Amino acid sequence: DIKLVVAHTHNHLDHVAGDTQFQNQPYTTVVGTSVNEVSQFFQLDNWPNNIGTYTLDDQRHLAIIPIPGHENSSIAIYDCATGILITGDTLLPGRLYIQDFSDNVESISRLVNFIESSRLNVTSILGAHIEMTQENKVDYPLGSTYQPNERQLNMSLEQLYQLNNELQQQWKDGFNQRHKAYYDTFIVDPNSSQLPPLPFDGRMSVHGFVLLPLDTPNSVWISHKPMFTTPHDFQLSFHAIITNSTVDPVPLPTNITRLNSQWTIQPDKWSLNNLINGNLTSFRTKLYKGNFEQGGTYLCDVTINIIRPLLTVVQLNASEIQPYQPLRYSSYFLSNLIVDKRTQIHLYLLHQIRVQPDFDAITHVTIDPANCTTDISSSQLNNLLEQNGNEWAFPGIDNDIGDRLTRASGLVSAQLLGDIYSTICEMKVVEEIQCTIGPDFYEDCSV
Ligand SMILES: [Zn+2]
Ligand SMILES: [Zn+2]
Repeated sequence: DIKLVVAHTHNHLDHVAGDTQFQNQPYTTVVGTSVNEVSQFFQLDNWPNNIGTYTLDDQRHLAIIPIPGHENSSIAIYDCATGILITGDTLLPGRLYIQDFSDNVESISRLVNFIESSRLNVTSILGAHIEMTQENKVDYPLGSTYQPNERQLNMSLEQLYQLNNELQQQWKDGFNQRHKAYYDTFIVDPNSSQLPPLPFDGRMSVHGFVLLPLDTPNSVWISHKPMFTTPHDFQLSFHAIITNSTVDPVPLPTNITRLNSQWTIQPDKWSLNNLINGNLTSFRTKLYKGNFEQGGTYLCDVTINIIRPLLTVVQLNASEIQPYQPLRYSSYFLSNLIVDKRTQIHLYLLHQIRVQPDFDAITHVTIDPANCTTDISSSQLNNLLEQNGNEWAFPGIDNDIGDRLTRASGLVSAQLLGDIYSTICEMKVVEEIQCTIGPDFYEDCSV
């Protein structure tokens, strides 16, 4: 009879979800997941400062090193028999999500000190996931279920030192300089609550937006016209309600099966940071049919009342590259129609901008849920498809301007990312509503 101990590197659902199958089994101990339970089981007094030893047998000991930061109860495990250091989600080939930055700085430094002062022979560092591609600095999107050509799992002390140096440097530079950092084999990604807020009244400018109708009168979907440089360096989209129009009713189409146009708004000067932070709740603007930068027609003045939470907020950074393949768009629900007894879910797709020059494209597609494969029921599928901000990848289609989705694409197969139900749908491209070429997104894609 062999005793089995089930312990965890930390208390995240993807690491503890299998516990129930071990609970109440003979000769089996399932270690709890709170800081108290972990420190009690491994006899770690004065958490997180002391390092514990767990004895497997006379010859084999494990060192248990508390490393809170990714999660409160995170530990690393060093096996003296093999020289393997297990780091859970704290160091792995992928994105290192940091829930508590200062805890994380201390934890990594404590881990490095322990290795150096004990002169440990670390043969390999094993994290709990592989999320990097074989291309340096490029990871798979969160929730990908297909990761061909992923990077190898094992890492070395060199990478632990890289992480430690990065964290020490950012700690010295102070809170206001804290940022994501891209290394060949991992990405330091502090939780947004751990990053400095956008300064009040920052990014003051005339910000242009594309505005598209939804299927309820006066409700619209709005997308910022971005650039890679400040003050326009955000891909940003949100829902809003139009009030106080100088023309009544607001001259937007009510039949949205095909739009054949875009609408744009050009408000007065204000701070994009304030919009993102919630200090700006509504604004007055001119509404145009077509692109106001390219000879659009003025329609009326309206008040835009922003609905929170915002649907998309992605900062475009000229120096921190985040390329990806294949083609990828986010989707926003437009309407659910029954045409000839078949369901037609209409969506707006927004191309995800990441690397210069890139392109800012908005496309109108439909999905017949009958043309999806998924593990869930049809009503659950409808709810899933109607969510805003779903990310879709188009396997086999390159992420470049010449291969983007247009009416000529016809039917395309799309994989819903981050979806545990393995949903793949056929999409029909109804129309491309707008497309401009980066890095300044002024020129039209078709030119
Ligand atoms: Zn985790
Ligand atoms: Zn702007």
